[in-house]
Amino acid sequence: MHREHTMPSMFILLSVLAAGFGAPRRCEPGDEALGRCRIPEEENAACTDMALAYCQDVPYSSIMFPNIIGHRNRVEAELGAEYLLMSVMHGLLNGECSEELRLLGCSVLAPRCQAGRMLKPCRSSCEAVRKGCSHAFEGIEMAWPYFLDCDRFFVSDQEGCYDPLSQFKARQQIAYANFTDEPSTIIQFTYHTNAQMWSTLKRTAAKCAHISRTYSIGRSVEGKDLLVIEFSNNPGEHELLEPEMKYVGNMHGNEVLGRQLLIYLTEYLCSEYLLGNERIQTLINTTRIHILPSMNPDGYELAAAEVADRSDPEFNQEGHIFNGWTSGRRNTQNIDLNRNFPALTSVAYSRHRYRRFRVDHIPIPDSYWFGQVAPETYAVMKWIRSVPFVLSASLHGGELVVSYPFDFSRHPQEDKMHSPTPDEQVFKQLARTYADAHAEMANNNTDRCGGSFTNRRGIINGAEWYSFAGGMADFNYLHSNCFEVTVELGCDKYPSEEALYPEWKRNKESLLSFMEAVHQGIKGVVRDQHGNGIKGATISVRGIRHDITTAEDGDYWRMLTPGMHILTVTASGYSKAVKRINLPRSMSRAGRVDFVLKKVPYEPDVDDLYIPGMETYERFDPYNQFQSYTQRELGENGEERQEKPWWWAYFTQSGNSAPTWLLRN
Ligand SMILES: [Zn+2]
Repeated sequence: MHREHTMPSMFILLSVLAAGFGAPRRCEPGDEALGRCRIPEEENAACTDMALAYCQDVPYSSIMFPNIIGHRNRVEAELGAEYLLMSVMHGLLNGECSEELRLLGCSVLAPRCQAGRMLKPCRSSCEAVRKGCSHAFEGIEMAWPYFLDCDRFFVSDQEGCYDPLSQFKARQQIAYANFTDEPSTIIQFTYHTNAQMWSTLKRTAAKCAHISRTYSIGRSVEGKDLLVIEFSNNPGEHELLEPEMKYVGNMHGNEVLGRQLLIYLTEYLCSEYLLGNERIQTLINTTRIHILPSMNPDGYELAAAEVADRSDPEFNQEGHIFNGWTSGRRNTQNIDLNRNFPALTSVAYSRHRYRRFRVDHIPIPDSYWFGQVAPETYAVMKWIRSVPFVLSASLHGGELVVSYPFDFSRHPQEDKMHSPTPDEQVFKQLARTYADAHAEMANNNTDRCGGSFTNRRGIINGAEWYSFAGGMADFNYLHSNCFEVTVELGCDKYPSEEALYPEWKRNKESLLSFMEAVHQGIKGVVRDQHGNGIKGATISVRGIRHDITTAEDGDYWRMLTPGMHILTVTASGYSKAVKRINLPRSMSRAGRVDFVLKKVPYEPDVDDLYIPGMETYERFDPYNQFQSYTQRELGENGEERQEKPWWWAYFTQSGNSAPTWLLRN
């Protein structure tokens, strides 16, 4: 595992380079405009031999000083922060775009000289690199370097420029020409650091900009983005009747396989869509898919560091299976995120004594906010509340099974007790969708990892496996319209890199089938007599004590198993409507069932009286506990860490003026 290994050696290199900083002053960006210095372009300008070590392979041998940004000679150029950045760019950006950026940098720091005149690089080349590579800098929260400013230091064709990337492009064309096969998706089955993950997601969204975008749902304790990538034929918008689903990976920071599989999945979806794969195009055109590969990027870093230590042969007697078993599971406040959600399951059980109880849309008790709420949990709760999700899976590791709610036992003294939701049949069907499509999960002869799952064909009720409170799946089901299962991908929480491709093959069909499963059951729109959608109407299914509510425009989705169902729709201020439907066994698309409700004078429903109303449901962190709590934390120890990015120390080693132009904003 090569992750994070480049850091120590890079650090030494930087220290050596930085030690020589200092002596000659030259023009800092911005100074020029203030009249503090001038660029002595024509003073002693002369052609000289190429001498910068990082620029030896440019397609010219004669360069000119002063260079484009005013370094008067080789020593000044080499001591500048610009050159320092170029020498470490490969490591900082994890190799992303490093070749193009280096060649572009060389055309500025070591500009081409011909017949005693400086030849400037083309603006169009610079703009192309900027378009394709700015996401790499965004990935590490670094600003686009000022000396690669296309408008300032590059010129147009008319002014007589040259393309510093001409040779590079020619080499690339040869490389592409060697792929003579049918075009297909190319995915690198390696581990991704956080920076690599963010830049892969952003690059993928850029490549598929018409069907994809990234967005952040919040930050981890250490300030890392919880970055989501979305796929839909209309990214950024909910479309009437289009169901939404999500995948969440790496909630436990040391369970890393799901994180990788989700990164590969995003690349696969984008690329296959572009290549015309009909199945993927249909899926994306009819579904809004949200993927959060890492819910716990801080924990991931701890786990990755531990695995890096253990790749030391002295440690590695036991192989990978014992690596990363516990380190990094929790977030950096030592909170297990899958125990940190409001424990609504006990509230649900307490409702059983009422005759016509329902278990859905249970409000978050105010008391919850006075406990410690992790920022990762907070972000995901807000996300769940803000998007009308229908279906979800959270990917874990350590077993090979799909478990479904409830995770919390219905009996306080029984920690291995079958504790079904009212939607037991739907959940079984969903869990089976994943397990059956997996290469080995549903096979009873498959070795498990210690749990007893005799004859279950790879699925189990969570509480029957082992009971716990505060889990994310129970929260999804009891607080929102979303049905979530937990997928345990295998015994090895941190498999070796060689296992990543076989794991992708084992899980690919499951991941696709599960997304398609969001189209099971029925969907429709609830409207008033004037055709306006009714938000917050309730869809009840006879015999299932779990209601679904309509979204903003009155649309709803109700996952159901095949058979006869009786639906009742109610909304405050409207008459109720009842429909009987029959869902056939083989249906590839959700059945459409619309309702029109008549307005009636309001009469309170007696059954509503003991169930908290929607006003309580709308309350989210009513006392701003979370905000005051996190601000306290930051005040104590988080300020410095929050302010400067991790790579900042590399540039401030020798006490020289640091290149603030690398900081964003
Ligand atoms: Zn887990």
